[in-house]
Amino acid sequence: MENLICIQCGTQFDATATPPLRCTICEDERQFVHYGGQQWTTLGRLVTDHHNRLEDEAPQLLGVGTEPEFAIGQRALLLQSSSGNLLWDCISLLDQKNIAEVKARGGIRAIAISHPHFYSAMVEWADRFDAQIFLHSADRQWVMRKSPRIQFWEGTTFPLWDGLTLINCGGHFEGGTVLHWPAASRGGGSKGALLTGDIITVVQDRRYISFMRSYPNYIPLGAAAIHRILEIIEPFPFEQIYGAWWKANVLSDAKAAVTRSAERYLRAIAPIGNYG
Ligand SMILES: [Zn+2]
Ligand SMILES: [Zn+2]
Repeated sequence: MENLICIQCGTQFDATATPPLRCTICEDERQFVHYGGQQWTTLGRLVTDHHNRLEDEAPQLLGVGTEPEFAIGQRALLLQSSSGNLLWDCISLLDQKNIAEVKARGGIRAIAISHPHFYSAMVEWADRFDAQIFLHSADRQWVMRKSPRIQFWEGTTFPLWDGLTLINCGGHFEGGTVLHWPAASRGGGSKGALLTGDIITVVQDRRYISFMRSYPNYIPLGAAAIHRILEIIEPFPFEQIYGAWWKANVLSDAKAAVTRSAERYLRAIAPIGNYG
């Protein structure tokens, strides 16, 4: 019995004697099956030719990403906080060296994940660090490896500790979640940050963000979904946004970046658009 990992999306599945016939995550319209067909690996095989790079993205915020790049290529973030560390989003690879490195920084109290594309090997990580996992219940159907460590939360917000709050924005996924981190500090003072995965995605120029139902298949979100995201994050102060990939961060005036990005997006998808 092995926990197979989908090579295209990085999701680890329940242990089976034979490989699953398909990857439910990849067959969804928000992902895709590789042109070469469905392929699987295991954690044991992955560690033979991949490793994780650990690098600070901000004070108290350690990036952990796999090299060479694997699956979707995101990096997770270890948010270090006085009442316990939170792993925000997750990746498929974990080895003994990483376990020691993360334990040296205080380990992991809990894992919270923005959406199913980053569920990856969350149960593997949770087991190694004796951590809880917080997922929004609206995405329950996308959990491919079950565990009693997973706690599904409901509603719009869910408080953790030290002022950390999970916020359900929807959009890309119905359970799409961002994390508000009020103590984020950079360049003096704590003005707060959002950790967003790709529920609010930081685009290439890092002065704007965007939203999509599917990034690889270019399916946009409608105006109602955009307005809902803006309304839900409105009460939370933040100066930075930390996205899903290395250096995909808006480092100043991020709330204004969300506003101007949403305006630009809504203009582009308007029935009589500015670009049409
Ligand atoms: Zn997959
Ligand atoms: Zn995604």
